[in-house]
Amino acid sequence: MKIGILALQGDFAEHTATLKKIGVETRLVRLADHLENLDGLIIPGGESTTIGKLAEDYQLIEPIREFGKQHAIWGTCAGAILLSKDARRLQPLLQLMDITVERNAFGRQVASFEIDIEVPVFAELDPNDSHPFHAVFIRAPLIESVAGSTMVLSTLPDGQIVAAQQGKLLATSFHPELTPDDRFHRYFIKIAKRK
Ligand code: GLN
Repeated sequence: MKIGILALQGDFAEHTATLKKIGVETRLVRLADHLENLDGLIIPGGESTTIGKLAEDYQLIEPIREFGKQHAIWGTCAGAILLSKDARRLQPLLQLMDITVERNAFGRQVASFEIDIEVPVFAELDPNDSHPFHAVFIRAPLIESVAGSTMVLSTLPDGQIVAAQQGKLLATSFHPELTPDDRFHRYFIKIAKRK
């Protein structure tokens, strides 16, 4: 099992650290060649416009799209925006997942917040342990709507969607790489292992 982490901008180092902690081999991805023989890819949090423009400059958009047709990809925050079909404004997107996102839906940096959310699919990791997940939101997008075969994995108490999955594609509005709880990383590895 080897997971790539897109390392153009954003908090790719934190994802690397969490994967190392759970014993998963990693590779930083900066060029299309780096996708070879990977079982999955993480697109980190950061600034989606910056990551998207750099991905265009490095001719990564099409290769990642192709990779995502077969393999697992997880986008956290800015990464979730890149995975979306529609961010309701013009910016480079991978458009792999049937989700529409609203960028900066909770306001500016100062409006960042942390909250415990329920993630029922964690019962698949350990049926005896599905305690709430402490989620960190930093200028986060909201998953405004999901379509097609996309499943909602978690919502805020008011019902707004913050985590979704479509096949091997995973999107979270928040940053599991910034907290010690590694259940989202382990859940992603489980998806990546599926044939
Ligand atoms: N606000 C950023 C964007 O729109 C995402 C923020 C983040 O990844 N923490 O791309």
